[in-house]
Amino acid sequence: MKHLDPPTFNVTQAIEVCASGITDPDRAQWLLDALPVVQASEAEYRELGPTGQLFEIVGSDAVTPQISATLMGEIYKRHFVRKGSPSRALYEQIRMAPEFGLCPLCAQRIVATVDHYLPQTRHPKLNLIPINLVPACSDCNKRKLAGVATRAEDQTLHPYFDNLGNERWLVIDIQATSPPTISFIVRPAAAWSDVLAARVQHHFRVMGLSELYAAQAASEMADISYSLDEVGASSGPTGIRQHLDVQFRSRYARDANSWKTALYEGLRDSVWFCTDGYRLIRTHLS
Ligand SMILES: [Zn+2]
Repeated sequence: MKHLDPPTFNVTQAIEVCASGITDPDRAQWLLDALPVVQASEAEYRELGPTGQLFEIVGSDAVTPQISATLMGEIYKRHFVRKGSPSRALYEQIRMAPEFGLCPLCAQRIVATVDHYLPQTRHPKLNLIPINLVPACSDCNKRKLAGVATRAEDQTLHPYFDNLGNERWLVIDIQATSPPTISFIVRPAAAWSDVLAARVQHHFRVMGLSELYAAQAASEMADISYSLDEVGASSGPTGIRQHLDVQFRSRYARDANSWKTALYEGLRDSVWFCTDGYRLIRTHLS
């Protein structure tokens, strides 16, 4: 999970800009009339987000007597997000925020959409609140849909509020099979609370990250097997270890807990892999 700076605009700006693009005067006025309600919701969200208590926010089936959950969903989709609308630039600011366009929830796939962290069907008052809108890939977006957290531990990570820090916490386990079998494990950092540790594990399960990273790691190893054979032939296990160490340090410098950082650290530290295991990848053409 990648931490993101929250959007630089608040719900007041989101609603005023959105309303300016609505041609139905009644609908535009209803939206503006809802401002005090959604401002209060945003204040509550700002209070509970930093302490990981967003699950405590009570759902509702309407924003105001005039704006049902269905109408708020329509306002989001047909007005706030619509291409060519005045508010589209705000939506794009959220969608385009991550570095290289990578989804902050998996740090692997490309952002395709904007996810409501607390879902719009249960929380129509949060529908246009910028800090409830998180860029996501379509896989993470779909995987997240099913769950509604009723306890702190069951909340997926929130990129604007949760920061996992730079202490190493993603590690691999290598099984001495042919080809080598890699699995990814969350090893809670000392700085994490028990609840945060449980949430990271929960996030990994919901987003399927262990499986995703294992598949990526298998492909990465297939990519490097030829060069490892060359290094091994000329420099032996010591050369392999040094080569993997350079790869590790380069990944670590950018992200202390990417799957690549974990992979190269684990391969470097495995005596079995540096001596024999690298020869068992055997997926290159020979
Ligand atoms: Zn994702």
